Amino acid sequence: MTGKKMIQIAIDGPAASGKSTAARALAERLGGYYVNTGDMYRTVAWAALQAGIDPDADPAAVVAKLPAWDLRLQAEEGVLQLILNDVPVPQAAIRAPEVAAVVSQVARIPEVRDWMLDRQRDCRHLGIIIMEGRDIGTVVLPDATCKFFITASPEERARRRLQQAGEVTPGATLASVAADIAERDRIDSTRAVAP
Ligand code: C5P
Repeated sequence: MTGKKMIQIAIDGPAASGKSTAARALAERLGGYYVNTGDMYRTVAWAALQAGIDPDADPAAVVAKLPAWDLRLQAEEGVLQLILNDVPVPQAAIRAPEVAAVVSQVARIPEVRDWMLDRQRDCRHLGIIIMEGRDIGTVVLPDATCKFFITASPEERARRRLQQAGEVTPGATLASVAADIAERDRIDSTRAVAP
């Protein structure tokens, strides 16, 4: 026994509902680590685009690439840094609208979800973790100490997203952002695995 406090908090919910804000604040309050699993899927989507793969047209090419991607979460001064093949993942790149446009297609590939599980569960040894995503309370950490589901109206979520610089295409409107979010919700909630 190390005496280390082990607390797992799961925060699930749809895009731009406020999961990250809540998870980050909780992590600070509890002195734990904030784990953003959406960023992990975004990293795979970004790496696929970098490799010239269209995840929608060719999901098998994404699966074929998985062994070449070493994705890790590294604890650095109280925060977790995503590392892909020994290189820190640039936040600006994975939050770009091009990545947002394909991330749900990547996240619905069963082999990708399976591959992700071990990498997400690896964080448990860190002690106090606040993990946010779509399937944390149901699939990734079913025995979590506490589970929350956060949501907001589509209009409010679109408004929040529109305020997040760098995450929407130039000239985006409330209506266009709402339509993009609705499409991502549709794919995420109707996929075969962990909808
Ligand atoms: O949380 P965020 O909106 O950044 O997540 C990006 C995408 O990653 C989601 O739209 C979803 O397709 C996928 N995702 C997932 N399961 C998670 C976290 C994110 O499928 N646990």
